[in-house]
Amino acid sequence: MTGQDDPSITRTPPTRCPACGWPLDATSTSDGSSATPGPGDLTCCLRCAEPLRFTDTMDVRRLTKLELAELPLAQYREILRVRNFARLMSARTN
Ligand SMILES: [Zn+2]
Repeated sequence: MTGQDDPSITRTPPTRCPACGWPLDATSTSDGSSATPGPGDLTCCLRCAEPLRFTDTMDVRRLTKLELAELPLAQYREILRVRNFARLMSARTN
Protein backbone atom coordinates (compact mmCIF):
# COMPACT_ATOMS: atom_id res chain seq x y z
CA MET A 1 0.00 0.00 0.00
CA THR A 2 1.40 3.38 -0.96
CA GLY A 3 1.00 6.60 1.01
CA GLN A 4 -1.72 8.84 -0.35
CA ASP A 5 0.20 12.13 -0.19
CA ASP A 6 3.73 11.04 -0.99
CA PRO A 7 4.33 8.23 -3.52
CA SER A 8 7.72 7.49 -1.95
CA ILE A 9 6.03 6.46 1.34
CA THR A 10 4.65 2.92 1.65
CA ARG A 11 2.46 1.82 4.53
CA THR A 12 3.64 -1.42 6.13
CA PRO A 13 1.96 -3.71 8.67
CA PRO A 14 2.19 -2.07 12.11
CA THR A 15 5.12 -3.32 14.13
CA ARG A 16 7.75 -1.98 16.50
CA CYS A 17 11.46 -1.41 16.07
CA PRO A 18 13.15 -4.42 17.71
CA ALA A 19 15.93 -2.14 18.94
CA CYS A 20 14.03 0.76 20.54
CA GLY A 21 10.35 -0.19 20.47
CA TRP A 22 9.34 2.76 18.27
CA PRO A 23 6.08 2.05 16.38
CA LEU A 24 6.70 1.49 12.67
CA ASP A 25 3.95 1.50 10.02
CA ALA A 26 5.54 3.09 6.98
CA THR A 27 8.76 3.21 5.05
CA SER A 28 10.18 5.27 2.24
CA THR A 29 13.05 5.26 -0.15
CA SER A 30 16.13 7.22 0.85
CA ASP A 31 16.19 9.13 -2.43
CA GLY A 32 12.50 10.06 -2.71
CA SER A 33 11.83 7.64 -5.55
CA SER A 34 8.68 5.52 -5.63
CA ALA A 35 9.19 1.91 -4.57
CA THR A 36 7.43 -0.76 -2.57
CA PRO A 37 9.56 -2.78 -0.14
CA GLY A 38 9.44 -6.54 -0.05
CA PRO A 39 10.71 -9.35 2.18
CA GLY A 40 14.48 -9.15 2.58
CA ASP A 41 14.71 -5.44 1.79
CA LEU A 42 16.56 -3.18 4.17
CA THR A 43 15.10 -0.29 6.12
CA CYS A 44 16.23 1.82 9.03
CA CYS A 45 14.44 2.97 12.18
CA LEU A 46 14.23 6.75 12.01
CA ARG A 47 14.23 7.02 15.79
CA CYS A 48 17.27 4.96 16.81
CA ALA A 49 18.87 4.51 13.37
CA GLU A 50 19.02 0.71 13.69
CA PRO A 51 19.33 -0.99 10.27
CA LEU A 52 16.50 -3.49 9.87
CA ARG A 53 15.43 -6.12 7.37
CA PHE A 54 11.84 -6.92 6.32
CA THR A 55 10.85 -10.51 7.06
CA ASP A 56 8.58 -12.71 4.93
CA THR A 57 5.57 -11.29 6.82
CA MET A 58 6.86 -7.70 6.39
CA ASP A 59 7.72 -7.51 10.07
CA VAL A 60 11.21 -6.19 10.72
CA ARG A 61 14.24 -7.67 12.44
CA ARG A 62 17.74 -6.51 13.25
CA LEU A 63 20.54 -7.43 10.89
CA THR A 64 23.06 -9.93 12.15
CA LYS A 65 26.71 -8.90 12.37
CA LEU A 66 27.41 -11.26 9.48
CA GLU A 67 24.69 -9.64 7.35
CA LEU A 68 26.16 -6.21 8.10
CA ALA A 69 29.64 -7.42 7.23
CA GLU A 70 28.47 -8.94 3.93
CA LEU A 71 26.57 -5.89 2.67
CA PRO A 72 27.89 -4.43 -0.57
CA LEU A 73 29.88 -1.25 0.12
CA ALA A 74 27.36 0.98 -1.66
CA GLN A 75 24.50 -0.40 0.44
CA TYR A 76 26.52 -0.04 3.65
CA ARG A 77 27.30 3.57 2.78
CA GLU A 78 23.60 4.22 2.16
CA ILE A 79 22.75 2.77 5.58
CA LEU A 80 25.33 5.07 7.18
CA ARG A 81 23.84 8.03 5.31
CA VAL A 82 20.32 7.16 6.51
CA ARG A 83 21.61 6.57 10.05
CA ASN A 84 23.20 10.02 10.07
CA PHE A 85 19.90 11.51 8.89
CA ALA A 86 17.97 9.59 11.57
CA ARG A 87 20.35 10.77 14.29
CA LEU A 88 20.03 14.35 13.07
CA MET A 89 16.22 14.10 13.11
CA SER A 90 16.28 12.47 16.56
CA ALA A 91 18.52 15.23 17.94
CA ARG A 92 16.09 17.86 16.62
CA THR A 93 13.07 16.25 18.28
CA ASN A 94 14.68 15.44 21.64
ZN1 LIG B 1 14.48 2.01 16.65
